[in-house]
Amino acid sequence: MSIDVNQPIRAPRGTEKSCKGWEQEAALRMLMNNLDPEVAERPQDLVVYGGIGKAARNWEAFHAIVGALKDLENDETLLVQSGKPVGIFKTHEDAPRVLLANSNLVPAWANWETFHELDRKGLIMYGQMTAGSWIYIGSQGILQGTYETFAEAARQHKNGTLAGTWTLTAGLGGMGGAQPLAVTMNGGVALIAEVDETRIQRRIETRYLDRKTDSMEEAMQWVQAAVGKGEPLSIGIHMNAVDVYEWLIAHDLTPDFVTDQTSAHDPLNGYLPQHMTLAEGAALRQRDPQTYIAKSKQSMKKHVELMLEMKKRGAVVFDYGNNIRQVAYDEGLKDAFAFPGFVPAYIRPLFCEGKGPFRWAALSGDPADIHRTDELVLELFPDDEHLHTWIQKAQKDIAFQGLPARICWLGYGERAKLGLAMNELVRKGEISAPIVIGRDHLDAGSVASPNRETESMKDGSDAIADWPILNALVNTAAGGSWISVHHGGGVGMGYSLHAGMVVVADGSERAARKLARVLTTDPGMGVIRHVDAGYEKAAEVAKARGVRIPMQEY
Ligand code: NAD
Repeated sequence: MSIDVNQPIRAPRGTEKSCKGWEQEAALRMLMNNLDPEVAERPQDLVVYGGIGKAARNWEAFHAIVGALKDLENDETLLVQSGKPVGIFKTHEDAPRVLLANSNLVPAWANWETFHELDRKGLIMYGQMTAGSWIYIGSQGILQGTYETFAEAARQHKNGTLAGTWTLTAGLGGMGGAQPLAVTMNGGVALIAEVDETRIQRRIETRYLDRKTDSMEEAMQWVQAAVGKGEPLSIGIHMNAVDVYEWLIAHDLTPDFVTDQTSAHDPLNGYLPQHMTLAEGAALRQRDPQTYIAKSKQSMKKHVELMLEMKKRGAVVFDYGNNIRQVAYDEGLKDAFAFPGFVPAYIRPLFCEGKGPFRWAALSGDPADIHRTDELVLELFPDDEHLHTWIQKAQKDIAFQGLPARICWLGYGERAKLGLAMNELVRKGEISAPIVIGRDHLDAGSVASPNRETESMKDGSDAIADWPILNALVNTAAGGSWISVHHGGGVGMGYSLHAGMVVVADGSERAARKLARVLTTDPGMGVIRHVDAGYEKAAEVAKARGVRIPMQEY
């Protein structure tokens, strides 16, 4: 069965459910929400974001998942293997309703070549992070992380604000699309190269981006005027990133900050080589994928060389988690890792507190429910100024995509407190339907990714992947509503293993039990992972908040 193009997929709204329990209903709505045209980058191909990050293997599998979720009892668990439903077992009420494993390959086979071969045979699916684990909420999902990253960059390099500075980056896709708004929320000016004009237009329509142009002259006039006045502004430049760098260097113009969010982790589907139009790229990709990949990698090498040149000229340069340095390195650029990744540079101290991209969506579809949760955050954490600023900015600046949702970086202790309080509001009817709570896999204790989340760990444990496995196991034991284990998210095949967690607050006592457990084990993994790696801050958090660590007790 295929999708009817006249009937785009959209999650059901309201309080009537078509499944036998709210956990199944939440999984159904979030799967569909991932494919809502307002949310997904290419819903007709089941692609949600991040290159070819998909929500289900194919349309047949999608419809079978929907059917299975509608039938699933409250003491059964559905198993999904790379986007295809493969079994249903009787478990128990407190167990997860769905367990998913996406894109996992035995390590010696964990490369794109093997993946593509298996993908062509219809045996596997790339789940990215939240695409295949059904908790993508549009660009907002990455917005606060991007905002926090630029805020920390501003604190470290520019007196705490980006006002009067400009940032060069590329990629206005599902996640990269958050960059312009994250920069302007920090007061700065962003110039973002993007080869696909429809992506630029989409970010303008969803209020993530202010302006667009095809002309570097015009773009730079806008940049310089806004920088001069210290006003925030974001500009999408419809050009290949490499051409933009070359133009700027030829004109002796150096940005204050430089990064990149093209989908460089996937040289075949995520990156357009220099000197090629979008249409030429699409044709070559079909006709001769090997040549496309070779050209793509060469272009990325040049891209990183130009980033290094900007560093030499005084820009603050950092990698934004797309593995572009690794590709350039493999192509022979020995200095490719001379600039740091964003996690060791700006984010790791937050991970030490178990802080990360906590998020929730209102299954009612009613924005008023999210506004009530916004107030709840302000009520529960009255002294957290940074959090207050974030919530106020988010309310003002963010247009919802699909089901109304909110992202909010919270740590150990805070997540359980908020989750339980939300459950109470659902129980009392102050929120009209259940809330689904989850997170990105890019979190404190759920990912092993040596070029990104676990880059330059203090004890050198970057490549150890026991942690995401333990994360998924403990969250399953704690009773998350759906739990997933993925490979290759963010940085591509062979470079990461990571786990997802989602739990539903439906106002019931069972939900309260599950929320209390899983919203403790999950950020707790972040704390213990960083204690184990020798981070003092994590050890302080563990001690102060009562996280038990046997090697420190016995
Ligand atoms: P996406 O595939 O939706 O978008 C990538 C965009 O880059 C596309 O719009 C594409 O047209 C554009 N592009 C490709 N080549 C280009 C070029 N040479 N010049 C200019 N534009 C070009 O991907 P996404 O979801 O936005 O993610 C982007 C990358 O960031 C991925 O590699 C992803 O894994 C990584 N990432 C970042 C974070 C983070 O915290 N910021 C988190 C996870 C992943």
